[in-house]
Amino acid sequence: MTLNRRAFIGTGAAAAAVLSAPHVRAASDGKPRVIVIGGGAGGATAARYIAKDSNTEIDVTLIEPTRMYYTCFFSNLYIGGFREISSLGHSYGALAKQGVNVVHDWAVGVDRAARTVTLAGGAVLPYDRLVLSPGIDFVDGAVPGWDVSAQNKMPHAYKAGSQSELLKAQVEAMPEGGTFCMVAPPNPYRCPPGPYERVSMVAHRLKEINPTAKILVADPKPKFSKEGLFREAWDTHYAGMVEWLGPDFGGDKVSVNADDMTVDIDGEVVHVDVCNVIPAQKAGRICELAGVNEGNWAPVDGHTMQSRVDENVHVLGDSSNQGDMPKSGFSANSQAKVCAMAVRGALTGSKVFPAKFSNTCWSLLGSENGVKVGATYEAMDDKIAEVEGFISAVGEDAAMRKATYEESLGWYEGITSDIFG
Ligand SMILES: Cc1cc2nc3c(=O)[nH]c(=O)nc-3n(C[C@H](O)[C@H](O)[C@H](O)COP(=O)(O)OP(=O)(O)OC[C@H]3O[C@@H](n4cnc5c(N)ncnc54)[C@H](O)[C@@H]3O)c2cc1C
Repeated sequence: MTLNRRAFIGTGAAAAAVLSAPHVRAASDGKPRVIVIGGGAGGATAARYIAKDSNTEIDVTLIEPTRMYYTCFFSNLYIGGFREISSLGHSYGALAKQGVNVVHDWAVGVDRAARTVTLAGGAVLPYDRLVLSPGIDFVDGAVPGWDVSAQNKMPHAYKAGSQSELLKAQVEAMPEGGTFCMVAPPNPYRCPPGPYERVSMVAHRLKEINPTAKILVADPKPKFSKEGLFREAWDTHYAGMVEWLGPDFGGDKVSVNADDMTVDIDGEVVHVDVCNVIPAQKAGRICELAGVNEGNWAPVDGHTMQSRVDENVHVLGDSSNQGDMPKSGFSANSQAKVCAMAVRGALTGSKVFPAKFSNTCWSLLGSENGVKVGATYEAMDDKIAEVEGFISAVGEDAAMRKATYEESLGWYEGITSDIFG
């Protein structure tokens, strides 16, 4: 057949379109496949937005072992007596209705060359893009004497649900005038103000039921998030109750003995009634198994949240090493939307806009006494960089603190429906 000029241009354009089309492996029904591992703040948001915004053009499977996700955000408020545990639980029914194929199983392996994920149940699922948002795991041996087999005696309560319930029950069962000890984590870790909001909430609860009890914090860090605001609250509302030991006083040289309920702080052994051990953290273990970590965390390109090790993999939330954003639910949700847009762009050719992110971390200090810290961020080539930040002021009046608390309640309702539909 002789090609006339018109036919030649048409063929050339079609060939060019094929060459520039994203490289995808068609599923049996012809749709590209995305697998999301982890149905928390980052993963559930990404799965929902990819399914919703691609208008079912992309086949989305979410792998999450639990049927009910309990938010770490606001779990301290539960410990303080401000929330019921049921108010923190979210199921995956709405995501399923919105077109996400929700599989309740553990991902136990990733073969990046074959582009498959293996589940504990034995299934092997192929993907065109993989999104990893498995949250955190703990660094083995970070607190000598502690490992996860001790978590019932010395709970971390840094993954919410039964651990939060256990810690609250232990606080409420403390003997009169007893000691609550927190072993705080080194940087970087999930939710920078989280341990100190927890100290405030435990103090609030103890002031109500056990006012002569004491709180001891052993901290490896010389300073911590919102320090001025927390210290002001501890001095004003919980005077004489909280003792904080930084590295100058041995807070970085701690071991524990769960059988004896003792904590050794730089050679001084203290008997405690409750011990909340929050160990050093690392990316959720599946990131390690997938081979996308450098050190404890998975480096990503902030423009797309693509792994710097493998462009077919995106890593979100706490597991990612992205730059200036704190490891928070707000950050994970914000990163998930950037990831969802990038995944759709790559697989369907939809328009991709420049990545912008935001975060606010609220903390409750006592009844209707809320404070916040936050910032906006932009993707740069080397990292996600902070553009502009803000923080509540020390000495604010009660009306401002109440307004901040109410803002946080609205945020919780808004973000959980954005994540879980
Ligand atoms: C006490 C406390 C208070 C906090 N307060 C706030 C706050 O006020 N505001 C805020 O924004 N953030 C807060 N955070 C932080 C927030 O909870 C986390 O940053 C956020 O949940 C991170 O989202 P993620 O998607 O990375 O991980 P997660 O939300 O932890 O989700 C990870 C999911 O992955 C699943 N998973 C793990 N491994 C696998 C696997 N192999 N296969 C399948 N599934 C897997 C897990 O079951 C889990 O559901 C707080 C945290 C704590 C501990």
